[in-house]
Amino acid sequence: MPDIAPALLLVEDDRALSAMLVELFSGEGYRVDTAFDGQQGMHLGLTGNYDAMILDRGLPVMDGADLVALLRSRGIATPALILTARGSVEDRVGGLDSGAQDYLVKPFEVPELLARVRALLRRNDDAATVLQAGGLRLDLVTRRASGATPEGEDVELSDREAALLATLMGAPGRVFSRAQLLDRAFEGAESDGTIDLYVHLSL
Ligand code: CA
Repeated sequence: MPDIAPALLLVEDDRALSAMLVELFSGEGYRVDTAFDGQQGMHLGLTGNYDAMILDRGLPVMDGADLVALLRSRGIATPALILTARGSVEDRVGGLDSGAQDYLVKPFEVPELLARVRALLRRNDDAATVLQAGGLRLDLVTRRASGATPEGEDVELSDREAALLATLMGAPGRVFSRAQLLDRAFEGAESDGTIDLYVHLSL
């Protein structure tokens, strides 16, 4: 175990289950922050510094899978496990497609949840700072992108370039409007033309 207690974010609207899990994780030496709906979860996920996130799929305000997708689009790569009461193939695939690393179907066995969280924490070291999409790799700490040029050279990005790239890499294949990119990567403070400074076609 590391010297510092691993920090978990738990987003679960079932208060009794949440309290039980907090007791369980605290007993295992983890520090746990709780949110009870998607909006609280988003706030904590964006502002806190967690080693892993555990999110219920069925949440008020925002679905747990949508919440993971949103956090990924903001460059938050903290490993996530989705708890789902729904066991269909579509639900499992949807949870993983959102950018979660793992899922567990309710009702679950406590030892299995603990084992899965330990596995998430083991993969955290890299995952929290590195995004991968296609052949591209972005280190959010050094802001170096690799695989970005045909020559295979690393490219060092500015804060804003890295934020923009992290947004796009968080949702491969998705089309964003300028307003969405401003909101997600630049916190919405700029005009539409800002995006054109950073994104242009080179042929
Ligand atoms: Ca729920």
